[in-house]
Amino acid sequence: MCLSLDIISSFKHKSYFCTTKQNLSLMKTVDNYNFAGQKALIRVDFNVPLDAQYNITDDTRIRAALPTINKILKDGGAVILMSHLGRPKEGPTEKYSLKHTINHLSKLLNVPVSFASDCVGDVATTAAKALKSGEVLLLENLRFHKQEEKGDVDFAKQLSTLGTFYVNDAFGTAHRAHASTAVIAQFFPNNKCFGYVMSGEIASVNKVLNGAVKPFTAIMGGAKVSDKILILEQLINKADNIIIGGGMAFTFVKAQGGQIGKSLVEEEKLETALNILKTAKAKGVNIYIPVDAIVADNFSNEANKQTVDIKAIPDGWMGLDIGPKTEAIYADVIANSNTILWNGPMGVFEMSSFEHGTKSVAEAIVAATKKGAFSLIGGGDSVAAINKYKFGNDVSYVSTGGGALLEYIESGSLPGVDAVEK
Ligand code: AMP
Repeated sequence: MCLSLDIISSFKHKSYFCTTKQNLSLMKTVDNYNFAGQKALIRVDFNVPLDAQYNITDDTRIRAALPTINKILKDGGAVILMSHLGRPKEGPTEKYSLKHTINHLSKLLNVPVSFASDCVGDVATTAAKALKSGEVLLLENLRFHKQEEKGDVDFAKQLSTLGTFYVNDAFGTAHRAHASTAVIAQFFPNNKCFGYVMSGEIASVNKVLNGAVKPFTAIMGGAKVSDKILILEQLINKADNIIIGGGMAFTFVKAQGGQIGKSLVEEEKLETALNILKTAKAKGVNIYIPVDAIVADNFSNEANKQTVDIKAIPDGWMGLDIGPKTEAIYADVIANSNTILWNGPMGVFEMSSFEHGTKSVAEAIVAATKKGAFSLIGGGDSVAAINKYKFGNDVSYVSTGGGALLEYIESGSLPGVDAVEK
C-alpha cells in the first residue's frame, strides 16, 4: 500500500469544511494544542512489512505519522512513540522488534531517535524521564506484552506514566480495544487528542456516511458476500446506488436464478442476497449487479476465456471479472455520482487477464473525482488496486485502515475513537 502524504495533508485541510452529523470542528486534534513542555505519548501504526534482512519494504505507515510527530516537535514538545509490529505470540521476537525501524524513522524526521528495549518498566521509564523537548523516543513492540491485546488496565496505566499527553494516530488499530489504543485514554482525562491520520480518516468517513453530497454510490467487490453483509446493510440506509462486483456478485446472480457455472458462490447466503435486494428496493436504493462476465476455464492467468451473459455461464467455466457491458453501466453510474465509496475489486485483478473491470472502475472514480466528486477508497484490495494503477493522488482519500474503516462504517464508532472523544 502506498498512501501518499500529499493525500493526507491535502485532505487534512479540505476535510473540515464538510457538513456532518458529528461536528468535526469539535474533534480534538493536535492542532488544538500547543505541546511546548509536553511529553506526548503517541500511539502510531508502525506495523510495516520487513524483508528477511529486516529492511522496511513499504514505509507508508511511518510516513503517514510524520506530520503529527513534526507538529509536536515544532511546538517544543518531546515525542514518545508506541506501536505494535506484526503478531508476536511468544513475547520478544527479533523479527517483530521495532528497533528495525529506528534508522529509517530518524532519516525521515531528520532528528535522532532513541529506543527503549521495553515499552514499560525501568528501561522505558528511565528513557522517558531523560527525554528533552525536541527529542524522540521509540518504545519496543507493545505486543511483546500479552496485556496489550487484552486491554489490561494496569498495563495501560504503566504506559500512561511515560507521557503527559496522549495522542492517538493509529487508525489501523482503532477498531481494537487494546491497552494502548483505547484503555490508556482514561488516564488522560483532559489531555488527549487525535493525530492527523486519525482526524483525516474520521473526517473522510463521516463525509461519506453523514455528509454525502448526493448521489452517493457505494461500490462493493471482493470475494465473499459474507464479509460484506453488515456493511451492505448499513449502506442501504445511506447510498443512492450500490454497485456490486467481484466474486460476491455470483451469489446474487445465483439467488436470482442465474446459471453461474463453477464461479465462487456462498450457497448459505443466497437468501441473504435476496433479502438485501428486497430491502434495497423497498428503500429506493438502486442495486447494480453485473450483466456480463469474463469467464475462464480455470483459475489461472493463462486460462481460456470468453465474455458471456452473467446469467448464462457455461458449466465448467468461472467468472473472474466483470464484462464490457457491465463496465459501461458502472462507469455511467460513477460519472453521475457526487460521493463515492469503493471497497473491493471487481475481479481477480491480481491477474492481468482479469484486471480490466477493476481498472475501469478505478478510472471512472478518478474521472468523477476530477469533476468534483468526493471519493473514498477503503479496504485492503481496493487500496492495492488504486496503488497498482498509480491513482493514489487522483482520488480524494485512500484509507490507511482496512478493517477499522469497514468496522466504522458497520457500527458507526470505534473503541479507539470513542476513548479519545470521552
Ligand atoms: P476481499 O478481501 O473480500 O475484498 O476480496 C479480494 C479478493 O477477491 C481479491 O484477491 C480478488 O482476487 C478476489 N476476487 C475478486 N473477484 C473474484 C472472482 N470473481 N472470483 C474469485 N475471486 C475473486
